Amino acid sequence: MVNDADLRHLRRCVELAGEALEAGDEPFGSVLVDAGGTVLAEDHNRVAAGDRTRHPEFELARWSAANMTPAERAAATVFTSGEHCPMCAAAHGWVGLGRIVYVASSEQLAAWLAELGVPALPVRALPIREVVPGAEVEGPVPALAEQVRELHRRFHGGGAS
Ligand SMILES: [Zn+2]
Repeated sequence: MVNDADLRHLRRCVELAGEALEAGDEPFGSVLVDAGGTVLAEDHNRVAAGDRTRHPEFELARWSAANMTPAERAAATVFTSGEHCPMCAAAHGWVGLGRIVYVASSEQLAAWLAELGVPALPVRALPIREVVPGAEVEGPVPALAEQVRELHRRFHGGGAS
């Protein structure tokens, strides 16, 4: 179940996605939270400069490997505005991070991008559990999904609706 604290972290993810958009980048944002509910790190997409692997979930996975013990990683939660792509899901699985809570699913995002006429991505959108079978995953979260959709609409030039 997604509780009030989860929603607060997810709202921060949407805010970070908005910051990415304002910086000219794709609107994705993520937050890494420890077992006690403390925010340890946060990031947003940074692919605009040309490195398409600069996803926030990937950055947080590497940050956790450098700064947390295996037990701390397993007890941590990654909140994110959009479900992990296969690359980020794999990184999450390899470093042994815990729960994932996302606002919009990869399936939703793919449908929205198709509606906006965005060409197919070079990497297939797979559900996280297809990549990391043991992952504890929650989402999508309908209460915030429309905000995320609007950010993608703005990024891809669809304008406000
Ligand atoms: Zn990714």
